[in-house]
Amino acid sequence: MQFDKNLIEKLKESKSVVFFTGAGISAESGIPTFRGKDGIWNKLKPEELANFDSFLKNPELIWEWYSHRKKIIHESKPNAGHIAIAEAQNIFTEVTVVTQNIDNLHRRAGSKTVYELHGNIERNYCIKCKTFYSEELDFSKGVPKCKCGGLIRPDVVWFGEYLPEDQFDAAEKAARTCDVFFIVGTSAVVYPAASLVFIAKQNGAYLVEVNIEKTEISEIVDLSFYEPSGKILSELMKDIRTSQTT
Ligand SMILES: [Zn+2]
Repeated sequence: MQFDKNLIEKLKESKSVVFFTGAGISAESGIPTFRGKDGIWNKLKPEELANFDSFLKNPELIWEWYSHRKKIIHESKPNAGHIAIAEAQNIFTEVTVVTQNIDNLHRRAGSKTVYELHGNIERNYCIKCKTFYSEELDFSKGVPKCKCGGLIRPDVVWFGEYLPEDQFDAAEKAARTCDVFFIVGTSAVVYPAASLVFIAKQNGAYLVEVNIEKTEISEIVDLSFYEPSGKILSELMKDIRTSQTT
């Protein structure tokens, strides 16, 4: 891939960069979106499973689904896209990852500042006292319970729930102050997450989209790449590094 010289120059001068990522980058690690063709779970819609009422009604079923997802996530690895984003930390002064993914792959790739808008499947918390549990839970006596007796649930944002305020506020601040805002593997149409794109644009950031196909956001970005992030981002980071040393 031959990148435009102006793009490389622009990136070289940038100090603060945000990567806003979604399901597309996880898909490159083989993590399915859990819609449709996924074995025994294909009869149920994520909307029907990933909500608090379903959890209260049938915590066993919801935990079975999350255990299945956790297993797939544990077995998957960060891909070239995650690694390129982590490597950006060696190029720019400030690199912030804002992700809608719950799979922890950005941290596993080495990214340090990661804001998780939809939670993290590796963490859990008690629905009563909000105590966090990040260790392996014990399912030998059924659905795991907290010391206080409350049920423990995965720390992921379910349908109908608010995004974690501290994560969103920090993401918003990063979007407001960055020089370049990358949109990676997400059509960024779901609010309130989508508002980050507009905040970045209004505050003068240069918007670069990396998606495998055209999205609704394509209209407002400065530059689009319709290819896998693993390819584009790793080539881009390599080019910036090479140009920095020449
Ligand atoms: Zn508790």
